[in-house]
Amino acid sequence: MGTYGDDGNSLILRQRLRWRGYDAEIVRITLDDAVPDSCDVYTVGGGEDTAQKLASRHLSGSPGVQRAVARGVPVLAICAGMQVFGEWFMVSDGSRAPGLGLLDVTTSPQATRSIGELVVAPELAGLTQTLTGFENHMGATVLGPDAAPLGQVTSGVGNGVPAGEPARAGGSVEGTRVEGVVQGSMIATYMHGPVLARNPELADLLLCRALGVDSLPPVEVPAVEQLRRERLTAARR
Ligand code: GLN
Repeated sequence: MGTYGDDGNSLILRQRLRWRGYDAEIVRITLDDAVPDSCDVYTVGGGEDTAQKLASRHLSGSPGVQRAVARGVPVLAICAGMQVFGEWFMVSDGSRAPGLGLLDVTTSPQATRSIGELVVAPELAGLTQTLTGFENHMGATVLGPDAAPLGQVTSGVGNGVPAGEPARAGGSVEGTRVEGVVQGSMIATYMHGPVLARNPELADLLLCRALGVDSLPPVEVPAVEQLRRERLTAARR
């Protein structure tokens, strides 16, 4: 899965490693490939119902990510990727498709689709910069007790609320709106963008975890700072 250029997340991780003098290989996993458990970091993008169901079935039958997560390997999952790693997700015909059960979340439809810029104040330790992304999803993801949000929504919808439920969903304190999921070594979010292009701090957090280091030499990328400014301004309009 990789809608809205989510497969760019792996390119960004590789480029940020190269700038620091590391080499890195991207292993693209299709439905024809066994899922390896030997990667240092995994990224999974978004997709629509059919792709999601196929991905979920394939990832269950070839449990390389599950073995890697059990060892604490970092995983970034976007939108449908987040839903697939949960307990179950409801698809457009109203049936529930099983997820991988790695995240204590469930996903069912909202009353209306959420589309637009998403701005989030991060709550994950190590993140200080405002998170920016683009969301486009029908699903509302509710967090169970083992899952923590990635942050609080300041603009946009984020995890959302299932249709017909009062606005308390998302595992959050009543009245607040949460975004994303953090559980063990897994980070999941509704932010496309790709999210790592817009949020270099999140990219470096994943890389630090993958490399087992506390920090990496800073890299200055003026185009990224300009992109962040533009997107954060667009969200305020
Ligand atoms: N099909 C899912 C939803 O609408 C995910 C969409 C996506 O990944 N952009 O909730």
